Amino acid sequence: MSLMTGEQYVESIRKMNINIYLFGEKVESAVTHPILRPSLNSVKATYDLASMPEFEDLMTTTSMITGNKINRFTNIHKSTDDLIKKVKMQRLLGQKTASCFQRCVGMDAFNAVFSTTYEIDEKYQTSYHKRFKDFMVHVQENDLTVDGAMTDPKGDRSLAPHAQIDKDLYLRVVERREDGVVVRGAKVHQTGICNSHEVLVMPTIAMGPDDKAYAISFAIPVDADGIVLIVGRQSCDTRKLEGSTIDVGNSEFGGVEALTVFDDVFVPNERIFLDGETEFAGMMVERFAGYHRQSYGGCKVGVGDVLIGATALATEYSKVEKASHVKDKLIEMVHLNETLYSSGIACSAEGYKTSSGNYLIDLMLANVCKQNVTRFPYEIARLAEDLAGGLMVTAPSEKDLNSPVVGKYVQKYLVGADSLPFEKKLKILRLIENLTLGTAAVGYRTESMHGAGSPQAQRIMIARQSNMAHKKAIAKAIAKIED
Ligand code: SF4
Ligand code: FE
Repeated sequence: MSLMTGEQYVESIRKMNINIYLFGEKVESAVTHPILRPSLNSVKATYDLASMPEFEDLMTTTSMITGNKINRFTNIHKSTDDLIKKVKMQRLLGQKTASCFQRCVGMDAFNAVFSTTYEIDEKYQTSYHKRFKDFMVHVQENDLTVDGAMTDPKGDRSLAPHAQIDKDLYLRVVERREDGVVVRGAKVHQTGICNSHEVLVMPTIAMGPDDKAYAISFAIPVDADGIVLIVGRQSCDTRKLEGSTIDVGNSEFGGVEALTVFDDVFVPNERIFLDGETEFAGMMVERFAGYHRQSYGGCKVGVGDVLIGATALATEYSKVEKASHVKDKLIEMVHLNETLYSSGIACSAEGYKTSSGNYLIDLMLANVCKQNVTRFPYEIARLAEDLAGGLMVTAPSEKDLNSPVVGKYVQKYLVGADSLPFEKKLKILRLIENLTLGTAAVGYRTESMHGAGSPQAQRIMIARQSNMAHKKAIAKAIAKIED
């Protein structure tokens, strides 16, 4: 079996024994909990769409390892065409879910670890790459969802991992056994981990020789002994417990993050892909971050499409859509959104083959893409709020709308243009609210800022890739300056 259906995916997560805590209590199942279920539904969409003939070309591809048909979310990129299709697939999923669909983190980690393990083996004659390929066959043949885990808590950020007062503030090896290692530490804001089959752990920063115990990469099932997930709160999350559908804004889809604790977790040797080769930690981080910065040129654009569409509808429902400033603001939103897409596509088209055989994006353009993502969705959201109007945040609840006592007033005074029922208008306003201020704002706004690295991380990479010496040389040539 190399492709699962959405239903098979849900059942496979239901069978797992994942240790999840929410509001201080253990969650029975990520499949049934109303706060967690939308997150599962978003990942389910990555399976559902793969079985639809109209999306087959984007959603599936051929494995370069086995030659079998696989879901593109488990792909090791074979060409620049694969990289471009990845971005298009992410835009499609953003449009279908209006949320973070989570499965990209694993895909980006696969490709970073694939090429890095090859280069470690070249230098040290280790067998990490063979192990990793075996792991990838397992992932592809079983169509698994894998959480890519990078971000450590970091404690005092002026200190290296080994110099922290609490040595566990970066995930590390605490015990060595003949058949594997025991790890302790945590990874913060882990997107999608509550409904993933496996977790692929990587180091979070470049490391020096004293950080050997921290230079560790491995994969294990999310329900392995010692893993504890503590779900992060999102703005308006408890609306999902009210049983309403309109007030949540997006009743079907969502994304959820969790603080993921590794409380002395055993990792067998065959699942270890980096162990002490500190000089390769930076390469793994840089490549993973590069791929995930490319990803944002797809997913955020797809979600942006939904937000722009919702905003356009809100203007129509109030009959202001013909005003020239309204038209112009919608054009600006589209312009910003397509600019993000342009750099997502550009860094893919300019990708290149690594020595392992897979394709890496152009790192400069991927970092430019993400740097723009730290800004443009905020402006798109600002324009959406401008055009939606204040009712987006002052509208009565769905229960008031349906109340036998006050419902008639809500209907009468908040009616749309041309006697449009308020219910329709409320649905669109709640969707805009969800994307700009509610649960989906985690994925669309703040994640645009900090996901795949905060803005300054991209500026460091842009500086590194900028080749200023070349720019100065060409300026001197034009100005006829000879040294
Ligand atoms: Fe995928 Fe975007 Fe979510 Fe990252 S933020 S996992 S790229 S949907
Ligand atoms: Fe992300």
